[in-house]
Amino acid sequence: MKDIDFSVAERHKMVVIGTGPAGLTAALYTSRANLDPVVFQGSEPGGQLSTTTDVENFPGYPDGVMGPDMMQHFEAQAKRFGADLRWGTVTSVDFSERPFRMVIDEETAVLADAVIISTGASAQYLGLENEKRLLGHGVSACATCDGAFFREQDVAVVGGGDTALEEALFLTRFARKVYVIHRRDELRASMIMQERAIAEEKIEFLWNRTVEDVLGEKEVTGVVLRDTQSGEVSELPLQGLFLGIGHRPNTDIFKHILTLDSNNYIVTEPDSTYTSVAGVFACGDAQDHVYRQAVTAAGTGCMAAIDAERWLSEQEAAERVTMLNSLTSN
Ligand code: NDP
Repeated sequence: MKDIDFSVAERHKMVVIGTGPAGLTAALYTSRANLDPVVFQGSEPGGQLSTTTDVENFPGYPDGVMGPDMMQHFEAQAKRFGADLRWGTVTSVDFSERPFRMVIDEETAVLADAVIISTGASAQYLGLENEKRLLGHGVSACATCDGAFFREQDVAVVGGGDTALEEALFLTRFARKVYVIHRRDELRASMIMQERAIAEEKIEFLWNRTVEDVLGEKEVTGVVLRDTQSGEVSELPLQGLFLGIGHRPNTDIFKHILTLDSNNYIVTEPDSTYTSVAGVFACGDAQDHVYRQAVTAAGTGCMAAIDAERWLSEQEAAERVTMLNSLTSN
């Protein structure tokens, strides 16, 4: 940030960082409150839903909707009230004084009176070529979103933590059989989740196995597994592969600037979206590691907009009082 000239920077009342359901809801509410939000879309406009296929659990869509279509609806609604959506990723921030300083794509300086962070989280993937190719066609990182598409089918969840077991237990409602593929012979998940998963008849644990490849032309038909102890390679036929190997909140640029928890989620004050810096608000998956749903992200986006609007009004009122006091004292 040293070489960036902020004397020529555009100054905005409100900057929203990120355009998933949280960011676009915050943009909708702040534009309707006449705060003229400028919204930076980041490297994945539309957020995680832009890589999802059918969404059946967002209220208001009785027949379901494709994830990318729904995000276009969010975007159009925010734009209708004047939200200014811009290409660009916020690459660094300085929240030590107001107006807050931000750099877009490592070169453009921007100032803001208030900031809403909705940078989301990214599901972790194994990094296999076919895993990426079949994403949305049998490969998923969200059982709550996609589990219902696998009624009476065989699916697998990769991972041994709470997310993996929670996903596996959820999938037993639909699937015929749920394999949990774990690279070790010991689970990382909490004891209560372990007990529940082990007691569930539909779940079978495949210990000491890694997924080496995902099979299928247009849809997943199976996976190639490697036994980490014997080295033996085998094929397991299935229709769905769920990654439960963790999520990573997109909060790297806020390290040492905002208070983050031990998993790097932004800490907000209870029942609010206030972060550790007054005037900076956080919503959606960058702040929520519990619910992680589009509808809850949209809900916290609305909360952030209302919190930011009230905070800005309080600041303006305080500034007016200071100005009046200085006028009367002169
Ligand atoms: P964790 O980091 O706890 O677990 C990730 C799991 O994925 C581990 O078992 C890990 O294996 C495995 N893994 C990681 N990378 C790979 C890889 N490349 N290949 C194969 N396996 C891999 O993440 P979670 O998302 O499960 O949990 C994150 C936090 O959120 C935890 O604190 C958890 O308790 C919490 N949480 C709480 C929930 C609840 O309370 N309801 C629900 C979900 C999460 P290994 O064990 O070998 O490292």
